[in-house]
Amino acid sequence: KKNKNMRLIDLSIGDVSLPLPSSCIDGIDNAKKLLANKETFTGYPPSTGHTFLKEEIIKNDYNTRGIDFSNEEVFISDSSKSDITNILDLFKDNLCVALQNPVYPVYVDSNILKGNKIIYITDIETFLPPICKVDLIYLCFPNNPTGKIISKETLKKYVDYATKNNALILFDSAYEAFIQQEDTVHSIYEIDGAKNVAIEFRSYSKTAGFTPIRLAYCIVPKQIVIESTNGTKISLNSAFKRLKDTKYNGPSFLSEYAIYNTYTTNKLCELRENISYYLNNVKLLTEFFDSKNMIECISINSPYVWIKTINNLSSWDFFYYMLDNFMILGTPGSGFGTYGDGYFRLTGFSSYEDTLEAINRMKKVL
Ligand code: PLP
Repeated sequence: KKNKNMRLIDLSIGDVSLPLPSSCIDGIDNAKKLLANKETFTGYPPSTGHTFLKEEIIKNDYNTRGIDFSNEEVFISDSSKSDITNILDLFKDNLCVALQNPVYPVYVDSNILKGNKIIYITDIETFLPPICKVDLIYLCFPNNPTGKIISKETLKKYVDYATKNNALILFDSAYEAFIQQEDTVHSIYEIDGAKNVAIEFRSYSKTAGFTPIRLAYCIVPKQIVIESTNGTKISLNSAFKRLKDTKYNGPSFLSEYAIYNTYTTNKLCELRENISYYLNNVKLLTEFFDSKNMIECISINSPYVWIKTINNLSSWDFFYYMLDNFMILGTPGSGFGTYGDGYFRLTGFSSYEDTLEAINRMKKVL
């Protein structure tokens, strides 16, 4: 009511604002034509996605970095969120799970639902506190919410730990496409030995603006062995395939074809253009907050800006400060865990115009 003359600017949720790239629209049109024709119509897709797209994923996203997989190691799905949470069905109960703090809340809630014990990695460099033997380690780089990346050397320590202690790393690479810096890893499989101990999640949600139509994939190398719910050793790849066959009828053909068309017509540059647009918004916000000394660690590799609140306000007090004074929505850092309190996350996913407008509103007061 107080601000009824000011329009609300939403910089809170990680959701894209640009329309789908034209190569994806063309791909959907092609898919529609195929489905409209008796000869080319296809019904249920395979539960882990079509081979035509798996081959392009391996070629474009992995072979270009000297990494190879078989088609059976690629699991295409509607979303990373469902993969990250559903895979937990395969593990025995009462696991000890290591999470970063602050962290993407989906890892926390899905493990609470499973009754697992959670320990937090508070400093990624100093590695895990030896409280208990860790079974699962979730790593997210570039990180949501902080935007931080990880060095090859540090990631190697996690792979070595997992190898030595029979742990599994769940590497969430949802923001891989935003990486600008050379000295980091795009995939955990750039680290020797990772194929024995790590699975990797990638999503087209932010990479290709697919939040309305959904598509993602998960890599599960064949050599990974886990202890199943009844204590026997099983291949994670076979078990995940069985889980998909049981619970899932495969990703949408239209979504798959949209991305397939982008890969095969060499239009990845269209996706990169959209990413650059969001990263430019991030840059504008970062420069503004840095000039106010509210940024502890500048990130150029993610769509998020992670700022320290002013006057040591709690995250929620700062949320209301931003709303009351500027009609700007952001996400309170405490929503990502205890170590996020006193911080606030803004996104670059809004329009350029709204990002500038938000900065202009804040400039007058902050
Ligand atoms: N992983 C991280 C770190 C995310 O931030 C998100 C979405 O915001 C996801 C996974 C989910 O991706 P999807 O849209 O494919 O479910």
